[in-house]
Amino acid sequence: MGRELSVVGGGVVGLACALAATDAGWSVTVYDAGPSTRAADVAGGMLGCLGEGHPGEDRLLDVSSQSASLWPDFLARLGDPAVRTATDSVLIGASSTDLAYLDDQVAFVRDRLPAAALTRSTASELRRAEPALGRGLVGGYLAEGEGAVDNRLLIEALTEALREGGAQIVEAVVDDPTALPGEHVLIAAGLGSAALAAVAGAPVPVHGEKGEILRLRRTRWSVPPPSHVIRGRRHGRPVYLVPRADGVVVGATQYEAQGPDDRAPQAVGVADLLTDAIAVMPGLSSYELVEVAAGIRPCSADGLPVVQRIDDRVLVATGHGRNGIALAPWTASRAMGLLA
Ligand SMILES: Cc1cc2nc3c(=O)[nH]c(=O)nc-3n(C[C@H](O)[C@H](O)[C@H](O)COP(=O)(O)OP(=O)(O)OC[C@H]3O[C@@H](n4cnc5c(N)ncnc54)[C@H](O)[C@@H]3O)c2cc1C
Repeated sequence: MGRELSVVGGGVVGLACALAATDAGWSVTVYDAGPSTRAADVAGGMLGCLGEGHPGEDRLLDVSSQSASLWPDFLARLGDPAVRTATDSVLIGASSTDLAYLDDQVAFVRDRLPAAALTRSTASELRRAEPALGRGLVGGYLAEGEGAVDNRLLIEALTEALREGGAQIVEAVVDDPTALPGEHVLIAAGLGSAALAAVAGAPVPVHGEKGEILRLRRTRWSVPPPSHVIRGRRHGRPVYLVPRADGVVVGATQYEAQGPDDRAPQAVGVADLLTDAIAVMPGLSSYELVEVAAGIRPCSADGLPVVQRIDDRVLVATGHGRNGIALAPWTASRAMGLLA
């Protein structure tokens, strides 16, 4: 008899763990409440490590860099080249203060990862690499090997790979994870994980950080989307443009969610994102604004993903905050280590 695993949550974390278990010969069933609260459906899809390094987040940078090294095999396993939408990033500051902030970030990353492929560049050097960049930006860095995926294609590809591998995906809201069948149960329900872990007997604090995000589509009259992920900093605010086949995803604001249902985009967040995105890439002004959304990132108390045992039978993988997509392969590998 093969070993049986129940996974609660069909977001990027649950699906990535489920696929690793299926590949290791487990018989897997994923129970998922559906996409309406799924952060992975809203996300930008940046595989951030170098561009996400912030002083004080040493351990997160280590984990992110380990996960970055697992992405090539993870993508190869999924087999759909359309999932990856960019391979490199540019980090750009709109003013000397914004650039000084980036310099501090990069100094921190280089201190922990001396081989990091980050090259300080003038604005014109960056514009040669990425002609879409606007004038009036002061300079930044080229981050080679730091790309992005299409989050929705990623979920589709994971679902497809699981079905092909014989896993079951069941649409259901789980109230009591301990009542599910199987030798082990993995709670990977994003923001919902805290309540489920409490039912399973262990508090796992997870709080929500909300973010607005926009989807813009190229028209016949507009310039092509960028080929790099563009991470800009303008007036002290971060803004990023993540390439898609037909346009860009513009993200993202970040602030404490008022509750699990606080998913309506706020006007001020949308206004800031549009203003900053068009300053960074003026050609976006003729793109169509096709989607305005907000999602809630499931965050742990210390900013690190929580991937641990609750007891002999139940495990939890949650709290990935702003990096759940980037950290999916690391999480799957760690969960498999715990199951083994
Ligand atoms: C605006 C925004 C931009 C982001 N950009 C990026 C980015 O560029 N790069 C990056 O790496 N990360 C990004 N993130 C973060 C990333 O989306 C999350 O960290 C990641 O989606 C968390 O994955 P998860 O599987 O834990 O949770 P989710 O994706 O939220 O999935 C949880 C799943 O569990 C299900 N569920 C919940 N409760 C139950 C229950 N009781 N029973 C059954 N099923 C249940 C839900 O229906 C859902 O499908 C972004 C997030 C936001 C909001």
